[in-house]
Parts: sequence; structure tokens; C-alpha cells
Amino acid sequence: MKNVKLYPTTTGQSWLEMSAYKHHTFNDLSEIKDEYDYIVVGAGYGGQGAARHLAELHPTAKIAVFEAIMIGNNDSGKNAGFIIDVPHDFGDQGSSTFEDNQKYFELNTFIIKWLGDVIKEKGIEDVDWDHCGKYLCCAETKSFKLIDHEISELKKMNTDYEIVEGEDLFKRTGTRYYKKALYTSGTVLINPADVLRGLFSVMPDNVDVFEECPVMRIDEGSPTSIVLRSGKRVKGKFVLVTGGPFIPQFGIGKKVFCPVLSYGAFTRQFTDEEMRHFEGVKPWGCTAGHPAGTTVRFTRDHRIYVRNGFSFATSLTTSHQRIRRAIPKLRKAYENRYPELKHVNFEYVYGGMINMTMNYRPLMMQQYPTVFASACGEGAGVAKTSLLGYYLAEWVSGMGSANLDFLRRVSTPKRLPPEPFLTVGAEARLAYEEFNAKKEI
Ligand SMILES: Cc1cc2nc3c(=O)[nH]c(=O)nc-3n(C[C@H](O)[C@H](O)[C@H](O)COP(=O)(O)OP(=O)(O)OC[C@H]3O[C@@H](n4cnc5c(N)ncnc54)[C@H](O)[C@@H]3O)c2cc1C
Repeated sequence: MKNVKLYPTTTGQSWLEMSAYKHHTFNDLSEIKDEYDYIVVGAGYGGQGAARHLAELHPTAKIAVFEAIMIGNNDSGKNAGFIIDVPHDFGDQGSSTFEDNQKYFELNTFIIKWLGDVIKEKGIEDVDWDHCGKYLCCAETKSFKLIDHEISELKKMNTDYEIVEGEDLFKRTGTRYYKKALYTSGTVLINPADVLRGLFSVMPDNVDVFEECPVMRIDEGSPTSIVLRSGKRVKGKFVLVTGGPFIPQFGIGKKVFCPVLSYGAFTRQFTDEEMRHFEGVKPWGCTAGHPAGTTVRFTRDHRIYVRNGFSFATSLTTSHQRIRRAIPKLRKAYENRYPELKHVNFEYVYGGMINMTMNYRPLMMQQYPTVFASACGEGAGVAKTSLLGYYLAEWVSGMGSANLDFLRRVSTPKRLPPEPFLTVGAEARLAYEEFNAKKEI
């Protein structure tokens, strides 16, 4: 295969700054072995799912994970921190039938439990993981149709939900911005960098984890090997590529990903006096009444987090200029919701990539007999990509199951149109969605 041309970078500060695991040290690069049974490329939630489940299935196998940047500074550590169980309006349009959505609900619930059990069993309950559910909040009456649609699916799935309005909604969120919300209890809110680094810090002994160690090339053959950017060659019986939007850089899954940049911001921590505004309010989070709306969280450590803004990630990175341009929209979203706390500055602002495909479908494939890959193609990626990594480990191990069959069946990402139609079309679509989101931003 060809050398990778674009490597991951990180711009802006995010959840990692608030993680107690920020200074955890993984394996030293001097410990890299010449040969492994399984090599995982990429330490996002996908790589975490794949490496851990491989170790469960093969407790004596030699397994290595290679991550280009710092674990937690990647998109898996820079999202909004919702591990969503229920069908989500920013992605599940891709699973075209109700039965598919129901299956995803079952699998999301399974993977949330799996992750939660690992956290308990490995004694890392100090990570920022809160099983507090999520709200779908609408600021405009016309957005209620999204709530109605979700309710009809939840009813068919026999899942409990709650409608929250008026004073009750204010008491739970500290804002009067929203008219109505749908609450479901299965979503977990996390500091995604903290949980990811925490999970990698307690990998089984047969898994070596190397961060800031980019992979430059995969050479398929007998034996298959990877070449690190340092020039070191490492043999692997199997290579699992979980590099998110960078997978095509390895010549795999080409022309299916159209990653979208989005931006997040955290206020500084509120003072005791400012916290009087949030009296009785517990940590909470909401997705918006429009897919292009603002995601909001009130964090454990007393900050408001907002995420919004979309642009097409043509060069697989963001820039400080783009982040600066994103700030007014983030500020407006915050100030509209908390006018009484307008004076509170943002402490951290960042940009990251949401790895989309045209039809929101995931990629799960065997490129060569010894090289496999998986990535999600939508906004609710933490649960989905963890699932894909988990079942990729089973596929590589020659196992079969109805769940693996399902994921392979829905793995039909649509091929991208050629340039310049792709960039023009993607920018126009994103601008259209943002225009329509109106007060939900
Ligand atoms: C602002 C924002 C908010 C979001 N909010 C949510 C949310 O609330 N809930 C949700 O479910 N999803 C959310 N997402 C999406 C979610 O973050 C992603 O779907 C998820 O992180 C994908 O995980 P992954 O492991 O597939 O990919 P990634 O997290 O991209 O991991 C791939 C890894 O591979 C590494 N890599 C790539 N190339 C190489 C190489 N050459 N050598 C070594 N390593 C390499 C990368 O550095 C990276 O760490 C959000 C995304 C963004 C940007």
C-alpha cells in the first residue's frame, strides 16, 4: 500500500484538559515488539472496542494499538460526550427501516453496558461517566415534529420516555430557552477524553498501547506488516484499521467518507455565586430539535458546554482561523440560553471531525485476507464505532453471529460524487441545514 499522506492533528483544547488521566503514560516506544498477532491502527472508541474485545477472545495473543496523536486529543476525545442508545436524528436516517433502528437500539444498549462493566470491573469508576439520560430539546414549536417522530419510534420499541415542559424544564436545565423536551434515560454522558484514556489505561496485559506513534503504511502480504513513521517495521498476523476519516489514507474504503467539522466550547467553571443560578440542577445534556442545532451540556464540574457549526473537512483538519470564526455562533448559543451568565467567558474552544458518509451508513470491510477496517458514518459515533470495533474483532477471529451479520449488512456507505461536485454539494447542504435550524442553533 502507499504511504499515508495526511496524518491526524489536533487544534484547540478540549475535554482532555479536564481529565485526571491526561498524564497517564502508556507503553514506551522502546517496547514495540517486532511482531504481534493483532495490530490495531487508531485509538479512538473504535480501536478501544476492537483491542479490548480481541484481548477478551485471545487472552494470550500479542496485541498492539498504534495511535498517531495523544489519546483523548482525537475526535473520540473531542465529541460532545453523549453515548446514545435510542435512534438519533443525526444518523439513524441511514438505517432505513424501523427494524434496523430497533436492532441498533439493542446493540447500543449492549455496548453501553459492556463499557460500563469494564469501568466497574477495572476499578476506574473515577472517570467522568454519568448514566443520566438525555433530553431532545426544542426551542421552536415547528421542531416538535421531531419529538413526535421519536415518540412514535420509542412507543413501538416499548421504551419509556418523558415529556418535560415549562417550569419543570427550567428547574432541570437552568434555562428558559426551550419550549419542550423529550427525555430518555438510557444515554450516558461522559467526558469522552477521560473515559477513553481511562479505558486504554486498563487494557489487559497482552495489549501494548502506543500513542504519538503514527502508522505510515500497511504492507499486505505474508507476513503482513505496518511501517511506522519512524521507519520501524512491525509484523502483524492481522491488522485492524480503525482510523476514522483517515482510513482511506491507507488505500481502504476510498471515496465514502465526507467528514464534517464541528466546534465545541466550554465556559470556565462557574463560581459559587453563579452556581446559585443552577440550584438543584444536576448534570444534563441535550441534543437539538434540528440536526444542525446546538448540543448543550451542564457538566459535572460546573461548566456549560455548547457544540454547533458545520463545515466540510476537505483537508482532514481544522485550523485556528476556522475555530475563531466558529466562536460567535457558539457564544450566541450560550448567551441565548443563559443571558444572566453572559459575562462568563469560554475557557476552551476546539474543532473536530464528525465522520460522515453520504447515506450515514458505516464501513466494515475486509480489504485483504489479513487487513480489516471499520468506522461509523454518522453523528452518534461513540456507541456505533465501539460496536463496530467489538464485532470487527469477532470477524477477524473467524466468529459469526447475527449481530455481526447485521452490521455487515448495513455497512453499505454510498460512494461520494466526484470533485468539485462533492465540496460544492457538501457546503451547500450544510449551509441549508444550518439555515433551517434557526432558533435550535
Ligand atoms: C464536535 C463533535 C461532537 C460529537 N459529538 C458526539 C456525541 O455526543 N456522541 C457521539 O456518539 N458521537 C459524537 N461525535 C462523533 C464521534 O466523536 C465519532 O463518531 C467517534 O469519535 C468516531 O470514533 P472512531 O474511533 O471511529 O474514530 P476516531 O475518533 O477518529 O479515531 C480514529 C483514530 O485513528 C487515529 N489515526 C488516524 N490515522 C492514523 C495513523 N496514520 N496512524 C495512527 N493512528 C491514526 C486518529 O488519530 C484517531 O485517534 C462528535 C464529533 C465531533 C467532532
